[in-house]
Amino acid sequence: MAEKRKVIRKRIKAADEMKRFMADHYYQLDNAAKTGEEKVAWCSSVGPAEILRAMGFLVFFPETHSAMLGATRMATELIPHANARGYTPEICSYLTADIGAFLQGVTPLSRAYEGIESVPKPDVLVFNTNQCRDVQDWFAWYSREFDAPLVGIHTHRGVKDVTESHISSIAIQLEAMIEPLAEISGKRFDMNELKRVVALSRECSDLWKKVLDTAAAIPSPLTFFDGTTLMGPAVVGRGTQPAVDFYKILLAELEQRVENHAGAVEDERFRIYWEGMPIWGRLRAHSELFAELKTCVLASTYCNSWIFSAFDAEDPFRSMAKAYTELFIVRSDDAKEEYIKAMIEFFNVDGVIFHDARTCPNNSNCRYGMPQRLEADTGIPSLIIDGDLNDLRCLSDEQTNTNIEAFIEQLEEHR
Ligand code: SF4
Repeated sequence: MAEKRKVIRKRIKAADEMKRFMADHYYQLDNAAKTGEEKVAWCSSVGPAEILRAMGFLVFFPETHSAMLGATRMATELIPHANARGYTPEICSYLTADIGAFLQGVTPLSRAYEGIESVPKPDVLVFNTNQCRDVQDWFAWYSREFDAPLVGIHTHRGVKDVTESHISSIAIQLEAMIEPLAEISGKRFDMNELKRVVALSRECSDLWKKVLDTAAAIPSPLTFFDGTTLMGPAVVGRGTQPAVDFYKILLAELEQRVENHAGAVEDERFRIYWEGMPIWGRLRAHSELFAELKTCVLASTYCNSWIFSAFDAEDPFRSMAKAYTELFIVRSDDAKEEYIKAMIEFFNVDGVIFHDARTCPNNSNCRYGMPQRLEADTGIPSLIIDGDLNDLRCLSDEQTNTNIEAFIEQLEEHR
């Protein structure tokens, strides 16, 4: 049996800085919604936030809000309220938890930030179907609820190689958003401002990549569970200077850990790649479970999804089109498998865990034989765990823990 014992989780000091960043973000949005001094746009998490920022909108990301519903374990009991409105339990539990919360008049923002009572009312909602169609339906619900305009980018799916025609068709859609957004914001589009924002987004993305890449060190200074919260500024703040400043501080701390051979998990013995969504309501429990097993879950497709290396301030529309189409979730299984193989090698992992998230087929890549193909190609064992991002009724803790412990034991024997 693999050794299991209580360990102390190592705190990342920069997390305090991140908390301040997130508080500023939500208070700014709350102030804008209350005073009407600034316009608010809701945006899907891998949507064209750069264009919105360049046009003077403050940007709110419903997915991050719903992840908070999951992390605070508010989500599961809110989902049935959306189900009652015809949004079935089988679709995205970000969507159902978020709409459920709105219908019940609750938000985790009130718990986290004194004085904030609700999500900020949108002046416009902007989605990109690069991740899924659920964001479109989710935003359409709010568009009707708030009587606010809905604008969207419709992306290709299952893309093997990103070609010029993919890029052109998305770039045209991005440019076509300018006119309606200018009407809503009341501001003229300024190409130099867009270039400035794209440059900041690229800098944020490069720093975030460097942060995640520190996990290649042995022992890893970072866990996936740290990454799921530390990625906050890369999601909600890309395109701003404070996000860039935060990642410089975080990177310095992690590089110091690497220099000192200070692992995030004490006596790291096994290194795991996590494929799929986090189980938000079990982040802490999973972080502790793996640490007790001297196992570091150190890298993931999920945290890597906010790396946009194609952004180029000199060619903003086409480079955004490329970056937002190159994403893992947009790609074919062939392209995804090549990517995971490269990650296995780069991070020197001993095993891969696939999370089969019941309500997100888009981020569950274990349903069509991928784990088996990867295992045959790389010799690296994998485990599939059943669960969900937000709906804890889809999860059996006992089963998950037993399976994870048995998997680590298998790695031990493998060694
Ligand atoms: S990708 Fe999955 S979790 Fe994200 S919005 Fe779409 S269905 Fe929901």
